[in-house]
Amino acid sequence: AKEKQKDDGANYDIGLQDVGDGTGIVTRFPPEPSGYLHIGHAKAALLNDYFAHEKYKGTLLLRFDDTNPIKEKQEFQDAIVEDLALMGIKADKVSYTSDYFQELYETCVRMLKEGTAYADDTLQEKMREERMDGIASARRDSSVEDNLARFEEMKKGGAEGIIWCIRAKMSVDNPNKAMRDPVIYRCSPEVHHRTGDTWKIYPTYDFCCPIVDSLEGVTHALRTTEYNDRDAQYQWFITNLKLRGVFNWGFARLNFVRTLLSKRKLTKIVDSGFVWGWDDPRMPTIRGVRRRGVTIPALREFILRQGPSKNIVNLDWHSFWATNKKHIDPIASRYTAIASDAKVPVTVIGARDGVITEEKDKHAKYTDLGKKKVVFSSNIIIEQDDAASFAQDEEITLMNWGNAIVRKISHSINPLASPSGLKTVTGLELELHLQGDVKKTSKKVTWLSQDQSLVPVELVDFDYLITKDKLEDEDVLEDFLNPKTEFRVKTLADCNVAELKVDDVFQFDRKGYFRIDKAFAHGESAIAFQIPTGKGGK
Ligand code: ATP
Ligand code: MG
Ligand code: MG
Repeated sequence: AKEKQKDDGANYDIGLQDVGDGTGIVTRFPPEPSGYLHIGHAKAALLNDYFAHEKYKGTLLLRFDDTNPIKEKQEFQDAIVEDLALMGIKADKVSYTSDYFQELYETCVRMLKEGTAYADDTLQEKMREERMDGIASARRDSSVEDNLARFEEMKKGGAEGIIWCIRAKMSVDNPNKAMRDPVIYRCSPEVHHRTGDTWKIYPTYDFCCPIVDSLEGVTHALRTTEYNDRDAQYQWFITNLKLRGVFNWGFARLNFVRTLLSKRKLTKIVDSGFVWGWDDPRMPTIRGVRRRGVTIPALREFILRQGPSKNIVNLDWHSFWATNKKHIDPIASRYTAIASDAKVPVTVIGARDGVITEEKDKHAKYTDLGKKKVVFSSNIIIEQDDAASFAQDEEITLMNWGNAIVRKISHSINPLASPSGLKTVTGLELELHLQGDVKKTSKKVTWLSQDQSLVPVELVDFDYLITKDKLEDEDVLEDFLNPKTEFRVKTLADCNVAELKVDDVFQFDRKGYFRIDKAFAHGESAIAFQIPTGKGGK
């Protein structure tokens, strides 16, 4: 753990009280299994892990907050476990809020008996208005017998029960509206993915959280600062139920420009088919950013660098990807690819006879990455854009080969065929001039010998899913979906690329960093996703 701390460069304190030697610290990460983890969740998980395992030698709990069966699925739960493991987070214990349904039920009965909770059938809209205006519910002073009977009806899940809920009797008009008799139990006759049809009543988050935190021995409950107003009711439950104390700490939620970090909205995007799925490289999920090419050490470093501060900022992706670039550069072998749609055949005059294959370093600086084959012959291709920029008798540089002089340029008769508006070059003759100084030329071009098995690779770049930096609550998501977010270019790459496997990260000279999403298979192109580097628009 020491090592990890050093790598992440993080060292924080959050004013944890009474830490002693730190072994008694217990934190928890409580995801609801209602979607895949996004990078906001990663922040919560990493911070809790940091305080439990790196800063102190304490305990990290993973608790599935599975109290809303309509939204929850086993698939999501499994994915959360996998994604945490991927991030190097290992909880010391795993539990479920649903493990405590019996205790929570008994606690609610106790509150009804003690007169600190009551059953209410006020319609939702009216309840909201009464809460806003500080008006007591007509049911607030019902008798204990009536309240208990109604809770029993709720427990049966029938037509009568379903119109009731249970509220804690905290306050009618406390200036903090979170204290105005919050709902603690609802009737919802849904099948639960773990408890099946045993329960027709489900406790709310507000009720479960302090009770289960306390029962499980949590010492420090870290939550995003939106919950600050709810700390008072959390502590009300602790005090009124005479539970062991828990310390609340708020930290800023993670936000990114042009990015949705809400499971509800991400679910909508997935279900509508706007993206390929939860692991789409445009999604801000752990799986999505991984597939886009972020490494786990980079993700950890970036997120832990934000720390437990309470300042909410709208982060931009540039620094995220710049952090990643630092991590991938030393592991990215270099290869060459040429856009295949308008590639230009070139005859190289003065090349050695035949086809010559040399072993070269995969990266000039990081030689431990190994060797690759570079094929030399008189029969090469270069990119149309490069060819179109050449002037007669200009001296240019063929990268990793040497200088050459442009001796002959053949153009197509139809100048409109070129997308750049320039005439399309259909062929070139270049005469090698190896004694020329590569430092003196302004054009360094990539090239590939045709006398090798060139590998078809489709390069894919992506753009943000939404068009507005910060979506407001009143914004309609559909109005801000970016209609074009996927850009594909067909290329041919050098023979070495045939060996790359899914997840390999590498660099194509002059094109940037890529991650293999689909390896080359006979007859089918490899697919490589462009990894942003923090420069440019995306
Ligand atoms: P979402 O709205 O995306 O579903 P949530 O808070 O409802 O988020 P949970 O599964 O309940 O989802 O979240 C688990 C933990 O992750 C909580 O402690 C929550 O505060 C934290 N969390 C969620 N989103 C963010 C975020 N953007 N930044 C930091 N922490 C977050
Ligand atoms: Mg939640
Ligand atoms: Mg939410």
